Amino acid sequence: MNVIFHVLTGAAAAGVATRFLDPLRTGPGTYLAMSGALVGLGVMLHGLLDIAPHQYPLRATPDILVSSVLIAVILACVRPRWVVLTSASIFGNILPDLIDLGPSMLFEISGIDLRFTSEKVFFWHTPEFSGSIYNGSRSFESHSYHSVVVLLATCAVIAAWNTLARNALTRRR
Ligand SMILES: [Zn+2]
Repeated sequence: MNVIFHVLTGAAAAGVATRFLDPLRTGPGTYLAMSGALVGLGVMLHGLLDIAPHQYPLRATPDILVSSVLIAVILACVRPRWVVLTSASIFGNILPDLIDLGPSMLFEISGIDLRFTSEKVFFWHTPEFSGSIYNGSRSFESHSYHSVVVLLATCAVIAAWNTLARNALTRRR
């Protein structure tokens, strides 16, 4: 799926986590463990999204640009105490693409060759398991999955807004 959807699920997972974690009470160990768990969860969420049948509403370059801006906006909006946890969650959600697609994109853009292997590390990036659709078929299914991701992610972030967002952005000051 486009990176932007993985960024959204990363923000959503962080939002859900902030509902169950109070770093002021639990201390840094639990906070770091939760952040690490969110990296792992993010990788799994990425796999689920990539296995679902999907087209690519955004081409690679605008996708990366919009996703980068979105990440910056998200991190600017979260409370300072959640920046590491939210970064970890988003990182986990985009990590499979960074590993499997990043080196070849970097090579195309800059000529820097970090492609150590042509094999995919994550099985959902192989033709056998990936839900990628490039011929325009199954548009309805693809749009449906994209809509579900956006809707659920938005709901999760809204539900967590008061704990997740900076004071200036919430009614609870
Ligand atoms: Zn992927």
